[in-house]
This record gives sequence, structure tokens and C-alpha cells, in this order.
Amino acid sequence: MDETGRLSFEEVRGWIRRFAGQIVANKVYLTELDSAIGDADHGINMDRGFQAAIPKLDAFSGDDPGAACKLVGSTLISTVGGAGGPLYGSLFLQFGIAMSGHDPVTLTEWLAGLDLGIAAIQRLGKAELGDKTMLDTLMPARDALKLALAAGKNPAEALKSATDAAEAGMKGTIPIVARKGRASYLGERSAGHQDPGATSSYMLVKAAADEWTA
Ligand code: ADP
Ligand code: MG
Repeated sequence: MDETGRLSFEEVRGWIRRFAGQIVANKVYLTELDSAIGDADHGINMDRGFQAAIPKLDAFSGDDPGAACKLVGSTLISTVGGAGGPLYGSLFLQFGIAMSGHDPVTLTEWLAGLDLGIAAIQRLGKAELGDKTMLDTLMPARDALKLALAAGKNPAEALKSATDAAEAGMKGTIPIVARKGRASYLGERSAGHQDPGATSSYMLVKAAADEWTA
């Protein structure tokens, strides 16, 4: 990523690969988090999706970051069961829409994808901020990135702000009583545990910052 926030096709592909690497490396951890408040499959689900998506991403020829994101999104939707698959699949489809037809894209277009993705997750799952879901990571990250770019921070600093907000949002899910997803079936007993989807979403934001600001 240059100082104006431009991202090449390979940088976008690198972000997705890095995120996938984090998912695979944390398969057990994410599943353990889900065993506390869900059905112990979040890591397994996400791993299955990326094991299918990454070979396709590797074989993808062309230079359209949007098309690559759409390919990942549709693969996640078709291979991952549970809530996480369609939600992450929709998120990547929206990154695809926002970044379609451009090489390079800009961090602003990536932010637009995140924005559209959050809206799609909300259309599907009807969750709000504070319901103890992946949105508790993604929405603060989006807001911090938007604010930082609007304030004229450089793209690397802006991504750092987004990662910090994502981390705070992820940790902030610990005390929350879940209102959406399987964790909500536990009622009060869901408090005291970090949400698995909020954790994988932190990895998504952090992967972007790590990949693009090295
Ligand atoms: P499932 O809950 O079907 O087993 P996963 O375990 O893969 O699916 O994913 C669980 C994660 O999905 C949760 O930790 C939460 O972050 C996210 N999630 C569940 N329901 C919703 C929803 N309605 N809106 C947003 N995110 C949700
Ligand atoms: Mg689960």
C-alpha cells in the first residue's frame, strides 16, 4: 500500500491469504471459543471454507481484486454451513462489489466494501452493535477507519486505528449477554466469553493492517 492508500491486486490477494492463514492457524482456538457459547464449530467451519477458497484464489488469473473477493465470497457461501459461512460469504461478496474493476484499488474502496458488507450482514442476521457478534468488531473498525481517513491520517495510521478499534470491540464482547446467534440461547450464561465470530473478524482486520503496512 502506498502513502495514498493504493492497493494492487496482489496486495488484496495477500490480505485474503493472510486472513486465511490466521483462520487455519487458529482453527482449534476459534472452535474452543465456540464450544463455550455455541456448538463448537466456528474454527472448523471457517477452515473448511478457506481450504476450498484458497486454491481457487491461487489459481485465479486476472487482476481484478473485486472478482477475486467475489470468488472467495461465493466459495464460502457454498462450502460453509452454520451462520458464519453465509455471513462471511456476503461480506466478501460486498468487498467484491466495492472493488470490482479496479487495479489498483484504494483503501477507501476497501472501506466501502466493509461498509456494504456490514449492511449485508445486518440484512441477513438482523443483529445490531452490542449483540455479541462479529459486528461488534467490524462496526467499530469501520467507524475508526472512516474517521481516521476523514481526519486526514495517512492510510497506515488509519488501518492501525481500525485494528485497535477491532481489538477493543472483540474484547468488549466478553461481558455481553448475547442477543443474536446460537449464543443467545444461553441467555445470561453467554456472558464472560469472547464471541468466536468477533474473534475471526478481528483477524480479518488485523490481516489487512499487517499485510499492507509492513
Ligand atoms: P453457527 O452459529 O451457525 O454454528 P459459526 O459457529 O460458524 O456458526 O459462527 C458463529 C458466529 O457467527 C458467532 O460467534 C457470531 O459472531 C456470528 N453470528 C451468529 N449469528 C449472527 C447474526 N445474526 N448476525 C451477525 N453475526 C452472527
Ligand atoms: Mg458454531
